[in-house]
Amino acid sequence: MKFEEKYPKAFVGQRLNVNEDTITKMEEMKDCEACNEPTEYFSTSFMAYICSEQCLRKLWTSYRVAISIKPPERKREKSRNFQARPIIGRG
Ligand SMILES: [Zn+2]
Repeated sequence: MKFEEKYPKAFVGQRLNVNEDTITKMEEMKDCEACNEPTEYFSTSFMAYICSEQCLRKLWTSYRVAISIKPPERKREKSRNFQARPIIGRG
């Protein structure tokens, strides 16, 4: 069911709990992440516009598939106070 049918009285900024997710009604309409239909509802779990419970479930399914396929991602420690040290005193 579309969120706009399920929560016809939701106001902008209202947080709504949908299963384990929180969605918020936004001022602006944007395309749903899953089906590309315009919607005012925004999932704070995915940081994406989402129009219905079905679409939210789709995102969860593709998310779970994605994390089960991908090898664990190692973040490169580029930014972590890396300091080049001159090599002194060798040889
Ligand atoms: Zn949708």
